[in-house]
Amino acid sequence: MQDLEITFLGTGSAVPLPNRGHPSIHLRYSGYRFLWDCGEGTQVQLRRAKLSSLKISHVFITHWHGDHFLGLPGLIQSMNLEGRTKSLVVFGPKGIDEFMPRILELGYYDKTYEVEYWEAKPGILWETEEFTVSAFPVEHGTPAVGYVFQEKPKRKMLEDKLRELGIPRGPLWGELQRGNEIEWEGKIIGPEQVTLEIPGRKIVYTGDTRPCEATIEAAKDADLLIHDATFSHDVLERAKETWHSTAREAGRIAREAGVKQLVLTGFSKRYKDEELVKLWEEARKEFDNVVIARDLEKVVL
Ligand SMILES: [Zn+2]
Repeated sequence: MQDLEITFLGTGSAVPLPNRGHPSIHLRYSGYRFLWDCGEGTQVQLRRAKLSSLKISHVFITHWHGDHFLGLPGLIQSMNLEGRTKSLVVFGPKGIDEFMPRILELGYYDKTYEVEYWEAKPGILWETEEFTVSAFPVEHGTPAVGYVFQEKPKRKMLEDKLRELGIPRGPLWGELQRGNEIEWEGKIIGPEQVTLEIPGRKIVYTGDTRPCEATIEAAKDADLLIHDATFSHDVLERAKETWHSTAREAGRIAREAGVKQLVLTGFSKRYKDEELVKLWEEARKEFDNVVIARDLEKVVL
């Protein structure tokens, strides 16, 4: 199975702290590398995490609040200095056609590669042979989306069954593995008879949002839900006013979506590191398997 590695580059919110940067998440799967959000300071965090910015092919921005995208101009210009030639693809919600041209026009620098940008409308944005990345709408009082990484299902060959039927290893196995029927000794053999379908892994990131139905739907049975938990529940009114979630609300969403694990992120500066346990305890009232995201920590699935 391919390693799926998630690195939290920044787990703060509007105001960064020395050890809690603006939001950004790096994902690595097989030879692919991409970012979810790119807050200010993302470049330094990539260095600290020993991740190469040049290998990043896509950046997905959840919304156009500065803390989620102001790392982009610097990242794009540094990649020019490093002589990048491969194009970079940026997705973001409505507003991207207004903001990306400005980002690309800032300052003096020589362009060595193309930056393509596209609006992240709900649905699949990027599809490879092995996975898709799609967007879903969230509720943040401004155009905002969350993102879903969905690995495609794989088929494991049931060798005993194949041997029993006398089907020789080779092109026919390949057809079955791709999910196609074959004809063998005058009979039709379906992939379900001789292979086992293993569902792909799913990771969901909400960006900033109030708890919402769209997240429950998008995160159904996900392996990992990374959810906004800016506030504790005693300041629920503040969370509502600013279109964020409390840790307890994030826990409820995780339970209702039936996810395997919940990661809380996007913490307000009002909570010191040692106080984040309070948010963890709060989410645990709703859902068992909760983790607090911390800068430069990794999750490997
Ligand atoms: Zn925001």
